[in-house]
Amino acid sequence: MALDQLLQVQDLDIELDRVAYRLRHLPEREAVRAAEESLSSVKATTAKFAEERSVLLAEQESLERQIDAASSRIGAIEARLASPAAGSYRDQQAMGSEAESLARRRSELEDDELEVMERLEPLEQTMTSLDAQAAAIEANLNQRRAELKLAEEQLGKQRDEVAARRDELAVDVPPELAATYYRLKAKLGGVGVARLVDGMCSGCHLKLPASERDRILHSPEDQLSFCEQCGRILVP
Ligand SMILES: [Zn+2]
Repeated sequence: MALDQLLQVQDLDIELDRVAYRLRHLPEREAVRAAEESLSSVKATTAKFAEERSVLLAEQESLERQIDAASSRIGAIEARLASPAAGSYRDQQAMGSEAESLARRRSELEDDELEVMERLEPLEQTMTSLDAQAAAIEANLNQRRAELKLAEEQLGKQRDEVAARRDELAVDVPPELAATYYRLKAKLGGVGVARLVDGMCSGCHLKLPASERDRILHSPEDQLSFCEQCGRILVP
């Protein structure tokens, strides 16, 4: 009676093991992991481009400051030249040539700035497209996470139901028998107790010698028998 009960407990234990295995190997979890990986890859690429962009923006800012400085210096010279305090002809000539040289310098700086802006433009485009990619992956990731949560909840519910049925049945199994069963189950791939069917152990599928089979079939009911081959508890 207790052994039959134990076999039912084992069936539920096997079901629980399967549910636990499915919980550990949910394809939804793999999908979440893949989405997380591609998101972090896109973010790493974006960070690289962002760094490149900030270097270029700093360069542009510095060029603009230099252009502004040249412009205001040119403005000051022109104002001075136009004023009655322009000074001697030599002074005016010197100022005029300084203004010209500043204008040339400013023109070079403007060319440099244009070049920086030309390098910034494709970078901005790439970053915009990366942001769009990240947003799409994030949306997908959220969906995958919701699917994973649902799958975990469903399997968790199934596990709790099976565990409740198992616990209910296990109450009637003597503690010593249960301990032997769980020790063997852990050692022997989840199956600790097997039926003896037509002289064959259903745990390892080996036929028992006739004498051994007879001994088991005629042993007292309160005495446990074990398979000689695999060591599992045998239920005649
Ligand atoms: Zn066996």
